[in-house]
Amino acid sequence: MEKIPVGILGATGMVGQQYIALLANHPWFEVRYVAASPRSAGKLYSEAVGGKWNATRGDLGGTSRLDAASLIVEDANDVTKAAAAVKRGDCAFVFSALEMGKDEITALEDSYAAAGIPVVSNASANRWTSDVPMLIAEVNPGHADIIPLQKKNRGWDKGFIAVKPNCSIQSYMTPLWALLQAGYGVQRIIVSTLQAVSGGGYPGVPSLDIVDNVVPYIGGEEEKTEQEPLKILGSIQGNSFVNAPGPKISAHCNRVPVIDGHTACVSLEFGAKKPSIDEIKRIWTDFRALPQELDLPMAPNQPIIIREEPNRPQPRKDRDAEKGMAVSIGRLRPCNVFDIRFVAVSHNTVRGAAGGGILNAELLKAKGYLG
Ligand code: NAP
Repeated sequence: MEKIPVGILGATGMVGQQYIALLANHPWFEVRYVAASPRSAGKLYSEAVGGKWNATRGDLGGTSRLDAASLIVEDANDVTKAAAAVKRGDCAFVFSALEMGKDEITALEDSYAAAGIPVVSNASANRWTSDVPMLIAEVNPGHADIIPLQKKNRGWDKGFIAVKPNCSIQSYMTPLWALLQAGYGVQRIIVSTLQAVSGGGYPGVPSLDIVDNVVPYIGGEEEKTEQEPLKILGSIQGNSFVNAPGPKISAHCNRVPVIDGHTACVSLEFGAKKPSIDEIKRIWTDFRALPQELDLPMAPNQPIIIREEPNRPQPRKDRDAEKGMAVSIGRLRPCNVFDIRFVAVSHNTVRGAAGGGILNAELLKAKGYLG
């Protein structure tokens, strides 16, 4: 199969670098266009990233292994450059990993879509746009089916926008979905997240503020953690999404001195029907969700991994499970206040960002919306 040429907006950042590394040997997609801020524009990708290279996979030091190292970085604000790349056959769609003001990103992603370039985004800017799907491929793949309506609403021909949710919810959304799908309603959740420093982008929190410390505040993160699940569990009604009425979620989001891998400590209350601990383990172990026949390259074989050791999961030991795409769960036990409690770990820049974005693009291609 001839590979589909793709572009990365924000290619020099924490998430953009992870895209470059994960796509280095991707069987369907090939990075042929990279763009970032005007500060990086005009430089070789390897120069623009330089000492900021932080992706956990691949090695820009051995740059020959990453084809993108020799691409020239373009200015992501210049949509005409991307449109020219589309014309040359160097870009069929873009991944957006931009970090700018919300209004700037919304306007820019809209401009790409209006120019006929589909945008698969990691940014939060368009997550609450009423006709934009917020996808976790294993949880709500059907939400992609709003895309024809979105195009019609906006008068867009080929372009559209699809986003992925915040990295903080990644570790408990799939386990929650597996329980809901098995017929166990969930009323209330209290979640405390311990989030890695890479979640804040590069250079992130100054070392003197985070080493030997925990910072109990990440701007906007608790609201995202509490509200985004409701859109993901919601439904398409007419031209837009309607949120699910529950579960009610209360979040504490903390920044901790871990490089990669977000941990979530979750207490959860079921409705009238309550599964046993053994039943929950069986549901999570058996969970697959994505139709296997789609055979999406980035999909984990085992999306939820149960760790039985009393001191797991841990970010350093479990974040890379299943190419960084699985959620590892441990310490599943009864809760004295709600029904159950557990600890979940997922890789924030892979499952929670670039890997999740690639999986969404694979899903969109399999559904015929890309390529
Ligand atoms: P980052 O490390 O700060 O990277 C930001 C990227 O945006 C860089 O490529 C930067 O280019 C570019 N950029 C900055 N200002 C720009 C401008 N004025 N015009 C054009 N490009 C500009 O951030 P990140 O952590 O990779 O996050 C990227 C996006 O993913 C954000 O929207 C974030 O919310 C989201 N996200 C991040 C994570 C995570 O774990 N880090 C997880 C999920 C979602 P230069 O290098 O040239 O400055």
